[in-house]
Amino acid sequence: MGKATGFKEFARQTPGTEKPEERVKHYREFTKPLAAEDLSKQGARCMDCGIPFCHQGCPVNNIIPDWNDLVYRDRWAEAIAVLHSTNNFPEFTGRICPAPCEASCTLNLEDSPVAIKTIEHAVIERAFADGLVKPEPAKTRTGKNVAVIGAGPAGMAAAQQLARAGHGVVLYEKNAQPGGLLRYGIPDFKLEKTIIERRVAQMQAEGVEFRTNAHVGVTVPVSELHGYDAVVLSGGSEKPRDLPVPGRQLGGIHFAMDFLTQQNRRVSGEPVKGADILATAKKVVVIGGGDTGADCVGTSNRQGAASVTQIEIMPRPPEKEDKLATWPHWPNKLRSSTSHDEGCERRWSVSTVEAVGKDGHVTHLKCVEVDAKFQPVPGTEFTLEADLVLLAMGFVHPVHEGLVDGLGLDKDGRGNVKADTVKYQTSNPKVFAAGDIRRGQSLVVWAIREGRQCARAVDEFLMGTSDLPR
Ligand SMILES: Cc1cc2nc3c(=O)[nH]c(=O)nc-3n(C[C@H](O)[C@H](O)[C@H](O)COP(=O)(O)OP(=O)(O)OC[C@H]3O[C@@H](n4cnc5c(N)ncnc54)[C@H](O)[C@@H]3O)c2cc1C
Ligand code: SF4
Repeated sequence: MGKATGFKEFARQTPGTEKPEERVKHYREFTKPLAAEDLSKQGARCMDCGIPFCHQGCPVNNIIPDWNDLVYRDRWAEAIAVLHSTNNFPEFTGRICPAPCEASCTLNLEDSPVAIKTIEHAVIERAFADGLVKPEPAKTRTGKNVAVIGAGPAGMAAAQQLARAGHGVVLYEKNAQPGGLLRYGIPDFKLEKTIIERRVAQMQAEGVEFRTNAHVGVTVPVSELHGYDAVVLSGGSEKPRDLPVPGRQLGGIHFAMDFLTQQNRRVSGEPVKGADILATAKKVVVIGGGDTGADCVGTSNRQGAASVTQIEIMPRPPEKEDKLATWPHWPNKLRSSTSHDEGCERRWSVSTVEAVGKDGHVTHLKCVEVDAKFQPVPGTEFTLEADLVLLAMGFVHPVHEGLVDGLGLDKDGRGNVKADTVKYQTSNPKVFAAGDIRRGQSLVVWAIREGRQCARAVDEFLMGTSDLPR
């Protein structure tokens, strides 16, 4: 275990950030990594609890106490080997995972969990810097071929595992670049896209063929999939939740992903599709209080919005959780992202009633406060000025037209592709599903877990047995 008395000697420390007024001038990542000696102290704080609740709290079951100890002892090469044994892409989770592990840490009972995510980030960045992230091509080939459809974190994890098991893997992606929501949804200030590209290079060297600009069910016929021994669907949950209120059709009201994707394309130098959606000098209202909404806030501020307001229908969560009632589980509590620190008015328990406009363009939103059952509270009606409204209310299910319906697959009650988490097999035995397309909108760490587990299920299906980790 770290240092027996480490948690008493050293305070929790996480990376500093560039000041909000400076970082809104650019789209780059803005955290300032800790020095190696500070990281060692953070590793030393881990108590290696008899029951490592963090390990259970992490969806990929990262073996956290082991790499905490290795970082404390300056054994970085071993730390990355342990980390990679459970997580294909710690550079993604080390940046953008909400870190349920830290909520589960025993030291969180004292509000000072081990800085697990910070250490994870440092371990993988040091490994890349030291040349330790090398291609791991399979030693033998199986002669089987697998198509993976959708190059987000689930598809990338599945493809990497399947290639390492010796299968021929083609990863189809409808966009020009791989990464899924990591590339086209999540802004560069949370995750720069070179981070995806260096991992893609490793996967290509391991034999994964990336076939981009290939929209299966649209530009690539579904019949092409019949030539493969197995197919993995990892196309995400891309159907956005709409706002069915009068005035929805007005100009200036857009889905969050249309806005975010445009900015990600601009930063990457990719052509922007359609007319520009820009927050510059606009009064922006973001509807929806989750990660997507926060990313709209950060992007709007970088584009120079006149004002940014974020509204959410759920009530304001408590500032602090009741630890003894919630620990080691993920608590409901107020969470603020770095984007909120950059300037944003936040309101909770608010429902949008109508969008009002002039000359076909939105100018106001009529809103009302709601009670715990989302019923309007009489007398609380109010108006918000808005000339750009971004709908960030989540995603309902995957797109059905084209691929999912083209394969004639069963869906679950929520419209996701139906498959369990043991075999990941759909109603077509040769077709498997993982990530948001199966579980609904979720997190990157869950997508990686499902991609890994699905790859093992496919390997077992093809070979009768599998050496891939569960
Ligand atoms: C704006 C935003 C911010 C987020 N922030 C966070 C965060 O901070 N932390 C976090 O953990 N999670 C976050 N999430 C959630 C996270 O990004 C997703 O849960 C995760 O990316 C899902 O991975 P996936 O591989 O299942 O799907 P996706 O990432 O959606 O990837 C699916 C891929 O499949 C492709 N595709 C779809 N259909 C086809 C087809 N027919 N043919 C070819 N290609 C196809 C798509 O183009 C896409 O590239 C965020 C989501 C959004 C929208
Ligand atoms: S992947 Fe997420 S939950 Fe797991 S150790 Fe990393 S930050 Fe924690």
